[in-house]
Amino acid sequence: MIEKTIGAAVPATGRRLFPSPDFPTVPVAGEDRVYPVHRIFCVGRNYAEHAREMGVEVDREAPFYFTKSALALVASGSRIPYPPGTRDFHYEMELVAAIGRQLFRADPETAESALFGYACGLDMTRRDLQLAARAKGRPWDLGKDFERSAVVAPITRAAALGALGERRISLSVNGAVRQSARLADLVWSVPELVSHLSQFYHLGPGDLIFTGTPAGVGPVVPGDVLRGEIDGLVPVELAIGDPE
Ligand code: MN
Repeated sequence: MIEKTIGAAVPATGRRLFPSPDFPTVPVAGEDRVYPVHRIFCVGRNYAEHAREMGVEVDREAPFYFTKSALALVASGSRIPYPPGTRDFHYEMELVAAIGRQLFRADPETAESALFGYACGLDMTRRDLQLAARAKGRPWDLGKDFERSAVVAPITRAAALGALGERRISLSVNGAVRQSARLADLVWSVPELVSHLSQFYHLGPGDLIFTGTPAGVGPVVPGDVLRGEIDGLVPVELAIGDPE
């Protein structure tokens, strides 16, 4: 008999066959508590110039998304191995929004008030696999959702940051600037994205949203050091190691 129709989940108790990991976490800037990550949503083509460099035009019809497993998370400051299966491993510097409370079918104003904070993030991408999938109309998972593909710097609380406004977002590889734009260039603003996502999901604390990358994406090779910055946020850093 079905007893619960809302919120019914697999029981968390029971003797486990193997250890299950805790949710990964992201530090909160200036605090000793950490933000546990449950889900990672990513927005595609949210800067017009980047869409163009990918050979497509953006539309204002609706944003689109892909996801990464929370287990794809890797701490800023890590050195990661060059991943398997690709010859075109790319960086994408992004603003990451962290949800702070439950949100369902919210308007943009309510969505904005439910934000916990923001962070610098890297949506690391196996571009050759993503484009091959795209060309065949297949899902992007092999290109996007893989181990250590989501890099997130410490989160700054929204209340401590103030309005996003015209802040600069940039990324350098070995000290040379490769991406530089303004958050005002986002096709869909953060409140619009969160509001839109909340029409499809019960969002809540632990949900991160990668908000898309500006133009200038490109490949990395072993030995490269990436540094991404957004005015007022903790920079994100990543070093690329040799293949496993
Ligand atoms: Mn991206």
